Amino acid sequence: MKAQLVFLPFCSPTFIPYHLCELAGYLMARGFKDIEILDLNIHLFNKQFGGLESYNRIVSGEWDNYMSDSYLVAEKWNVFQVELEQKLVKYLETGIDFPLEVDLNKLADIVCISWTFHHRGGASQFYSTMAFVKYIKEKCPEKIVILGGSYLNHIDKKQLMMMFPEIDYVLHRESEESLFCLLKQLAENSDVFAIPNLFYRNSGKIIKTEEVDNVLRGLVFEPNFDGIEINKYFNPSSVVSIQYKRGCDWNKCTFCSHNNMYFPSVDANKEGFIKKAEFLYGKGVNFLFLADQMITFDDVGFLNSVLAGKFYWACMIMPQEKITATVLEEMYQAGCRWICWGVESASPRILKLMKKPVVVEAAKRNIIDAHIAGIQNVVLMMQGFPSETEEDLALSMNFLKELRPYYYDNSLSPFHVCYGSEVQKNPEKFGIEELSSLVLYKNENGVLSSELYAYSPMKEIKEDDNNKRSIPFAEHMLIASSLFKKLGDVK
Ligand code: SF4
Repeated sequence: MKAQLVFLPFCSPTFIPYHLCELAGYLMARGFKDIEILDLNIHLFNKQFGGLESYNRIVSGEWDNYMSDSYLVAEKWNVFQVELEQKLVKYLETGIDFPLEVDLNKLADIVCISWTFHHRGGASQFYSTMAFVKYIKEKCPEKIVILGGSYLNHIDKKQLMMMFPEIDYVLHRESEESLFCLLKQLAENSDVFAIPNLFYRNSGKIIKTEEVDNVLRGLVFEPNFDGIEINKYFNPSSVVSIQYKRGCDWNKCTFCSHNNMYFPSVDANKEGFIKKAEFLYGKGVNFLFLADQMITFDDVGFLNSVLAGKFYWACMIMPQEKITATVLEEMYQAGCRWICWGVESASPRILKLMKKPVVVEAAKRNIIDAHIAGIQNVVLMMQGFPSETEEDLALSMNFLKELRPYYYDNSLSPFHVCYGSEVQKNPEKFGIEELSSLVLYKNENGVLSSELYAYSPMKEIKEDDNNKRSIPFAEHMLIASSLFKKLGDVK
């Protein structure tokens, strides 16, 4: 039996679904060889816009204004996204005119859909996933549909499967080993009930199996790019988003649910990372976006030694006193050109409620030192955390104002309650009296909607230089890609 790993719209066309290349590599290393990747997102963009040349026509082509050029392009994608989502909703309502081009003859026996993104105002695979499962089961009822991906860790899987009988299996948490077991069992036509981290159907019921950390973390393998053509992506430069370590060493912030999917272990597979980095370098990729939730001081030496001289790279860091000017200078020498700093607030009172161990003065120092070292900074801030006062917000705004010469962008995101976060689990502790537990619902036309964010106390804040709209992760790829293009070859 053949399996396909499918990546659906809508996501920036600069985003190479490299996580699927790693998953395919893992499955092959474990012995399931008949696997390929189908990126319908980039297929759609190439059909609509005609490739990188058209992208270059939209922007100046010189990349001197890569920030504004990137926003310009992202705005264009947003218009396209809205149009596409309207068509997908119409298909879900009426069952006619499925708007994506899918060659049903080339669809594998087992279709594994990676549901990675669902952000308001950013990359979202919400409607495309629902419409796609409906379409393929209608046209090819014999196909087996498996859903996995990080977004699933934010929603109620049983509820989802009840609403969508087209979905045969859902995998959750870190599930590459469970996917391998499932593919093997399906190929052998054997029972699946003993596979951990799985939701399956049995006599009309949805059964959840045990949650077990079964990933072979020490496995060393090469990513597999079967089905991925790097030159099809609208990348000014090919930037790949890769993880060194999973999860977050801190993992305590009360608003955060990013780590829901990860099992407690955050041990890195150093040998595995070296192998992947060498593979990518050999493939001509010179730019990496480290998608780790948080790089720590302890990670920096290793990363510098692996990446120096081969890659320009970007990463996310929580401000830390240990990240000194010397450390940042060493990171610059090793190719680091961009850091997203997770500051969140400049009010010590709010930081305490967030359980975010950021010391405001240390954060200032980090950002200034990184700038002096030659690294571009993005400052990630949040507004509207429960009980935040005008005075608290003023501290954050003044922080951004004071540091304006030292960062090139900030993301002052509105606070939302994320499913699975401490705030969502104990809203009363944060003064939230009422919190909807409804996460997914169907409207009167049968179209699924999501209430990932159940509470948002946002006040409108006027856009100004200190308050641009937030940049969803996939758009960071676009900006990183443009920045790296401007930097030229790695020295
Ligand atoms: S917000 Fe960042 S530092 Fe805090 S728990 Fe989440 S990933 Fe970790």
